[in-house]
Amino acid sequence: MQVFPVPPSPRAGGDAEAPPSPVAVLALQGDFAAHAAALAAHGLGTREVRTAAQLLAGRPPAIVLPGGESTTMLRLMEGTGLGEAITAWVAAGVPVLATCAGVILLAREVRNPAQPSLGVLNVVVERNSYGRQLESAVVPLRTAPGGGLEEPWFEGVFIRAPRIVEVGEGVEILAWRGDDPVLVRQKNLLAATFHPELSPRSPVTALFARMVQEVP
Ligand code: GLN
Repeated sequence: MQVFPVPPSPRAGGDAEAPPSPVAVLALQGDFAAHAAALAAHGLGTREVRTAAQLLAGRPPAIVLPGGESTTMLRLMEGTGLGEAITAWVAAGVPVLATCAGVILLAREVRNPAQPSLGVLNVVVERNSYGRQLESAVVPLRTAPGGGLEEPWFEGVFIRAPRIVEVGEGVEILAWRGDDPVLVRQKNLLAATFHPELSPRSPVTALFARMVQEVP
């Protein structure tokens, strides 16, 4: 796989007074607009990204991979260099929030059916594992102690969601739906099989905003 050279941060050695650069939101398809609104509530600006050139224009403070249809996203990404650009920023430590289809894009392995993925998040996911669109639900989720989420319980909106069926080394489970991990963190990757951007004041969005602010 080709790996793109990563350009330096636009802020490195630059004007300390300059406004922070906006978070890059992958906007090929899906519910990317809801992420802009959710992050704005935490004072984070966003820009929509549809090409590798847009993503490589400068170091983004963070990247969001939204929910939608992972198969369609993969098809739109094919041959564009977008996947490689995302992988390069992941390796460079840029915080990434992946939700639902976004988690499927990052996963080490995808089942039901199998499909290619970027393979940077050490989990195995099974697509559409909680049922069809009609079974979409708002579900109480249990926080794992010490994982950085403030409330013991919070709501998760599940829409044709994948199920995390295996969690590998280096992956911390931050929240559960019954016996299933639904929010995991691997270093700079925060991955939710549900849609925190659709819940007002989700602690997941708050945690991600802190991860963005903590990057040196
Ligand atoms: N079912 C979708 C997929 O497999 C994900 C659904 C979502 O992102 N809300 O890609």
